[in-house]
Amino acid sequence: LFVDGPIALDLPVHVEGNQAHYLGKVMRVAPGDAVILCDDATGEWAAEVVEAGKRHVTLAPRELLREREPVPDFWLCPALLKKDRFDLVLEKATELGVARIVPVVTRRCVADKLNAERARAVATEAAEQCARTALPELGEPVKLDSLLRDWPQDRHLFFADENGGEPAADAFCYAEGPAALLVGPEGGFDEAERAAIRAHPASVAISLGPRILRGETAAIAGVAVWMAEAGD
Ligand code: SAM
Repeated sequence: LFVDGPIALDLPVHVEGNQAHYLGKVMRVAPGDAVILCDDATGEWAAEVVEAGKRHVTLAPRELLREREPVPDFWLCPALLKKDRFDLVLEKATELGVARIVPVVTRRCVADKLNAERARAVATEAAEQCARTALPELGEPVKLDSLLRDWPQDRHLFFADENGGEPAADAFCYAEGPAALLVGPEGGFDEAERAAIRAHPASVAISLGPRILRGETAAIAGVAVWMAEAGD
């Protein structure tokens, strides 16, 4: 369970709201039970239930099990997609280990806003399910031209291009340092957007094969290839 940190030995952790309901009603915890807590800061703790009420559970951290894991410095910049498809991207990118997810608004995006609270809940649930001790940062949706304008100097901007580019595995394994993958929406990037991306000094067009993939497929597959090639 991710809680607000930092967690410290024997310093009581108070859980309320949905999390208390989950512990109390779903997990039916009782005093003395063990619960694993994470705080996205110190790491993963074995904690003991001290008091279990309907709306409030108190736990005592007893042992630090794992330090917060090192997270590969990789960002996923997926164009906003329809809600359930974007949720899938959030969930899988979290499982795969990305450090940051920056939703991008492009001209052909069907969706143009993101429910940040829901997105955070999807990512947190995915992190809890795959036992990550670090949550991905979730950026505010940003327009493509602002993303390009403010792009950090030292970060590779791999651009998933269905019209062709370097094979992803080759491009990823030879690129040192911080990186990111930019993926288009259901309707793809328009010509002006493609030109602006290709003109950016940090951009490298990469191909994920000869077929046209859905945006969520390209995002998930692209992150998986990067993690396999450079994610340690
Ligand atoms: N232009 C596509 C079409 O003709 O249907 C629409 C875009 S595609 C559904 C969504 C996004 O996935 C693209 O903008 C691109 O970023 C990525 N993508 C799809 N297939 C790809 C491939 N084979 N290699 C690299 N990126 C791909």
